[in-house]
Amino acid sequence: MKNRKEIMKKPELATTAIHNSEIHDKDTKAHIAPIYQTSTFTFENFQSIQDYQNGNTGAHMYTRGSHPSRQALAGKIAALESYDLEQNGVAEVFSSGMAAISAALMGLCHAGDHIIAQDVLYGTSEHLIANVLPNYGISHSLVKNMDLSELKTQLKSRPNTTVVYIETPANPTMFLVDIAAVVEIAHSHGAKVIVDNTFATPVLQRPLSLGADIVVHSTTKYINGHGTVIGGAIVAKNALLFEERIAHIIKTIGAVPSPFDCWITNIGLKTLPLRMEKHSQNALEVASFLEQHKNVKAVSYPGLKSHPQHELAKKQMSGFGGMLAFELAGQKEAAIVLNNVRLAALAVSLGNVDTLIEHPASMTHQVVPEEIRLEQGITDGLIRLSVGIEAASDIIKDLDQALNKI
Ligand SMILES: *Cc1c(COP(=O)(O)O)cnc(C)c1O
Repeated sequence: MKNRKEIMKKPELATTAIHNSEIHDKDTKAHIAPIYQTSTFTFENFQSIQDYQNGNTGAHMYTRGSHPSRQALAGKIAALESYDLEQNGVAEVFSSGMAAISAALMGLCHAGDHIIAQDVLYGTSEHLIANVLPNYGISHSLVKNMDLSELKTQLKSRPNTTVVYIETPANPTMFLVDIAAVVEIAHSHGAKVIVDNTFATPVLQRPLSLGADIVVHSTTKYINGHGTVIGGAIVAKNALLFEERIAHIIKTIGAVPSPFDCWITNIGLKTLPLRMEKHSQNALEVASFLEQHKNVKAVSYPGLKSHPQHELAKKQMSGFGGMLAFELAGQKEAAIVLNNVRLAALAVSLGNVDTLIEHPASMTHQVVPEEIRLEQGITDGLIRLSVGIEAASDIIKDLDQALNKI
């Protein structure tokens, strides 16, 4: 039998999610770490300040800079995203996914630099790249479906490109991008690759192992998993790049998560491997049901053989996740389904234990101009489903009765 030390040297991913980076309070012996709800930390004497400044202690000074709950959560996310790597990456957690994405782009891009991004992105990420960063001298171009030959052309004509920004699976179309192929091309032109891994999570897809430089997350979604907080994370493969370009930004812009938010997110994260397995099972069952329903025109789920990138999904993901989209005849039919579901909640956001249903054209993607939206496949009849971990049979029953009202 292996001894405990050997087991803990390279524990399985599920064990890592529960045990990595846990705080064990030496004084109280509390099994679960307390919430360090304090704005500042005390020093014993002048020498302890100097030790802290020299990085010789695990001490904290001020909660905007660091605090134990944040350090624990960041450490665990880094361990999961770096699971296959020789050396752990470095992570930091934020007050929202958008704060993390903003900090990553602010860190890697300076005035005069260029970003190449995929055309279909989380709406606010697209807004940041297209409408906010240009005010600071950072330009961008979008590549439709991250077509690889178009990416090469753009990189050649834009030698000032510092970042290629992708999201896979993409929201809400479930379009996939070949991470390893994008990395190879971007690196040969000296650009770094940032991947938004919110939909897949490190349980199903680990972009750092595929060569990506930075992973960003909205921890609001699967990582927390229970719909209780807004949060974000950055994981960098290279500690030096992180130290030099990103670490100081979180402290400076102050987009920091509270001790309570970090604490509760860490509790959610412990069940991520278990939840992702069930989300994936349920979503495949629901997608297969929808695919044969007479009122459904099309279903987009990477786990279905009919998904145009099913082979790529099998190559770069170890499971297909809980997100899917399906298309009805039009807006009238979509409204009937949304008005009649009983179990699924009509709400934006995703990745919760509960099933959530939404209409991208009038909710998450309402700000996208109609002609662009239609070109991206976000039609008036498209519905996005975040399949929860209730019994799949109940989710299917609910959708079936709502679809039959059409
Ligand atoms: C929700 C989401 C974001 C933004 O995260 P917030 O926590 O809402 O700021 C970014 N990317 C993706 C893919 C998301 O789903």
